Amino acid sequence: MIVALLSSLSANADRIELPDLGDPSESSLSIAKEKEIGRDIMLQIRENHVTVDDLIVQEYISSLGHQLVSQADSALHDFTFFTIKDNSINAFALPGGYIGVNAGLITTTEDESELAAVMAHEISHVTQRHIARAVFHNETMQAPLLAAMIAGILLGGDAARAAITAASAGSVQSQINFTRKNEYEADRVGIDLLGRAGFDAYSMASLFDKMHRQSRLYGGAPPEFLSTHPVHGSRISDARARAGNYPRSQRGNSEQYRIVRARLRVLMSDNPTRVANDLERALKGERSADTLLDRYALVFALIEAGQLEKAVAQSEILLQQDKLAFYFQLQRADIDLRLGRDGMAIKRIQELRQSYPDDYVLTLEYARMLIQSGQAAQARKILEDYLVFRQGDPNVYLWLSHACKASGDTVKSHIYMAEHHLLFGDASQAISHLEAALRSPIQDYHEEASLQAQLRNLREQSSDDKKEKLSGK
Ligand SMILES: [Zn+2]
Repeated sequence: MIVALLSSLSANADRIELPDLGDPSESSLSIAKEKEIGRDIMLQIRENHVTVDDLIVQEYISSLGHQLVSQADSALHDFTFFTIKDNSINAFALPGGYIGVNAGLITTTEDESELAAVMAHEISHVTQRHIARAVFHNETMQAPLLAAMIAGILLGGDAARAAITAASAGSVQSQINFTRKNEYEADRVGIDLLGRAGFDAYSMASLFDKMHRQSRLYGGAPPEFLSTHPVHGSRISDARARAGNYPRSQRGNSEQYRIVRARLRVLMSDNPTRVANDLERALKGERSADTLLDRYALVFALIEAGQLEKAVAQSEILLQQDKLAFYFQLQRADIDLRLGRDGMAIKRIQELRQSYPDDYVLTLEYARMLIQSGQAAQARKILEDYLVFRQGDPNVYLWLSHACKASGDTVKSHIYMAEHHLLFGDASQAISHLEAALRSPIQDYHEEASLQAQLRNLREQSSDDKKEKLSGK
């Protein structure tokens, strides 16, 4: 969709004729190249701090995305899913399997299948190699330029203007376009992913229909998604017909989806006190449609607003419920930790871990709490063991680095931090951490030698990359 956005900047976009690229596997854009471009854009997105970094939100959007990807016939890419702090209703695919979902899409949908439908559509733009076909067939395309440009538009505002100027927009735009055929194919393939993954395959059609009707009814600017995805009668009926291949699904909304919506309500506001007041009034006046989730959001808002004693009182009410206990317990442990009741917080987490020993969020939260309560060595051990489950997870390395730092192992702390940055493809940050590691006193000769070798490799690689980018290869 971001690609469509780009082309819409140019008034002449419709008239641009794309050369036939033939078989995508023969197109000039290799999977590796596509990944590299996506990674560059991703780095800029991260630098601009526009992603929602909440662990629960991150883990949810990632696991939902991977559920859908696992149903794809051929997924040539590793996929990375992330949430953008933006209330507009949109999602987009970047080159290389990076899929961004705006917070507004998650909070506006009321049915998890609808969220999954939009994600499935974006995933399909990647698996069908629409991006590879539509863009980058020009061998002189310069990845950093394009990355600057796409990220700029994505982030909007000043960043966009700066990036567009910097990237001499016109020449780049003319090379990018999703065709209507691409859009239909992404719908079709997306509906298959939905149906196979057990979501309601009709949700693609029903979401289109809903957005279409709402924008006609209320006028004004249509949701972002519609402006890049024109919905018309035949698109809706096609989507409905395709969905007929799958039985109606009655799966309902998952706990995680409901929790994530509640969290985003707070995370997307710059005034948690006001959110707390609104929720409190709704709960008191019995105007709450979902008391459990509204109260959970209330506790979260109170925590964010620093009203911890009030948060405890509300949390007590939640803990008397047997539903969603995992999230309520986790939340309560966080409050206790903030109140300096480290022992109680950790005990609560340890009890939860008996039932969910390998849970990602729980493990990272446990580590964070151990570090904060002066048990960094224990945190390190738990995280090192956890690498078996999440080898390539940047967050695990981030917290490993914190744990090592807190327990006095500066060298290892830098090494893990370098790994954390490398997983995002940020070689220059990785290099500076490895350099810092080498400046610290190292006991082990072998470790020093291996660090030096790794540093040499990274430096060579990154200077090769620069040369390649400059020559446009
Ligand atoms: Zn699309």
